[in-house]
Amino acid sequence: MDAATSPAWRDHAVCEGLDDLFFDDACTDAAKRVCAACPVRNACLDHALRRPERHGVWGGATVEERQQILRRRHH
Ligand code: SF4
Repeated sequence: MDAATSPAWRDHAVCEGLDDLFFDDACTDAAKRVCAACPVRNACLDHALRRPERHGVWGGATVEERQQILRRRHH
């Protein structure tokens, strides 16, 4: 994502440079632990739900968990 389109919360993301962890299904638990300590978790999850992002852990939630959240919202 380039600077012009990058949302402000990204400046506070603690997963900077950790893409390998966040986009590897074998590392889901480790990625979630990083999210748990992230100050912009809610903004990140919101972004991933709105887009929606179809890969990786965002805002402490996996793709499947985000789909569940969206399904619940639409009911
Ligand atoms: S909530 Fe997780 S994926 Fe989102 S910015 Fe924070 S550490 Fe990264």
